[in-house]
Amino acid sequence: MNKQINIERIRSDFPILSNLINNKPYIYLDNGATTQKPKQVVEALTDYYYTTNSNVHRGVHFLSQKATELFEQSREKVRSFINASSTKEVIFSRGTTESINLIANTFGEKFIDHQSEIIVSELEHHSNMVPWQMLEDKKGATLKYIPFDQNGVLDIETYKQLFSNNTKIVALSHVSNALGTVNPIKEMIEIAHEHNVPVLIDGAQAIPHTKVDVQELDCDFYCFSGHKMYAPTGIGVLYGKKEWLEKLPPYNGGGEMIESVSTKGYTLNQLPYKFEAGTPNIADAIGLGAAIDYMNAIGIEEIFNHEKALMQYAHEKLNDIKGMRIYGNAKHKMGVISFLVNDIHPFDMGTLLDKMNIAVRTGHHCAQPVMNRFDILGTVRASFAIYNTKEEIDKLAEGIIFARDMLM
Ligand code: PMP
Repeated sequence: MNKQINIERIRSDFPILSNLINNKPYIYLDNGATTQKPKQVVEALTDYYYTTNSNVHRGVHFLSQKATELFEQSREKVRSFINASSTKEVIFSRGTTESINLIANTFGEKFIDHQSEIIVSELEHHSNMVPWQMLEDKKGATLKYIPFDQNGVLDIETYKQLFSNNTKIVALSHVSNALGTVNPIKEMIEIAHEHNVPVLIDGAQAIPHTKVDVQELDCDFYCFSGHKMYAPTGIGVLYGKKEWLEKLPPYNGGGEMIESVSTKGYTLNQLPYKFEAGTPNIADAIGLGAAIDYMNAIGIEEIFNHEKALMQYAHEKLNDIKGMRIYGNAKHKMGVISFLVNDIHPFDMGTLLDKMNIAVRTGHHCAQPVMNRFDILGTVRASFAIYNTKEEIDKLAEGIIFARDMLM
């Protein structure tokens, strides 16, 4: 059933949205970079520090046990949110970048050699390209790239041709942060599995906007960041199928990831702790749990529908502007809209919009190969969250026209 969301109530959960800047409301359309945080998340952090702060897992005392309980409850919230089959498959990390690096390093150490081939797409954020390029350097492996067309849609036929007996892993984004393309990852995972090749999904730009069911997708690894889904910075998740995580060597060494240590060596702790060396980011993991509660209370389907309507509206409004070129016109798009107007430099457009209290992002969006493909240096990117409104998109369109006329 489709509930109507109460946008005013949602906005009132985010105190920053009602702050005036230069005595005027501020329109925040840089959610792809990071979202704002609701009171419920900030209060979970302050509650934790005021009532519970302690180190987790090894403590016998009351506070340590309470902190451990809250920390592990958050892990369970993540598990249920992505429908992982066990909390052993949910590893807390600092964010998407660290989750991908963890796999590139550990999988790389065990399974990649100079004959290995790794498939990535040309649409990737640098976070899902550079760690694999580092493996090219370190191990002499070869990266093979899936190209995309003028609309920002991956070429699935070429993808199928990229597999060989040496293909070891596929790394793909669920949603492109530069163009908004929603990649057909379920189909692409199936294709990889036909070749017995595991797939890592960079879900940083998908999980804030749509239901993710890792079992239904059948992905082998799924990485995301808390701060793009209303949670604090510094916390993220690596989901991995247990069979894979068990096969991989540890990443960082230290406390927590061991079962026992002697001068002769160490034995490894069980999952998920094997990959969580050192004191974890306890407070922010609890904040992530609160953000998941917050999203669930609104409803993932409701979030999806609201943002889909915003995206359609933004496309219509922006397409009406003379001189507008939207980059990324896939049928399935989510979260972000990237554009240029005439030959105005994106930085100039962004700076003028900022003067009008409209926050957008400008530049290459950590996806330089995408910009190279279009032979541009960068774009202006507006990106949406649950609290954005059509009125804000109207203001964005007015702002773009004003800036265009000023700069022409
Ligand atoms: N992948 C994608 C698609 C992203 O949009 C981002 C963040 N812009 C990242 C990875 C990296 O996320 P983080 O900086 O939170 O590690």
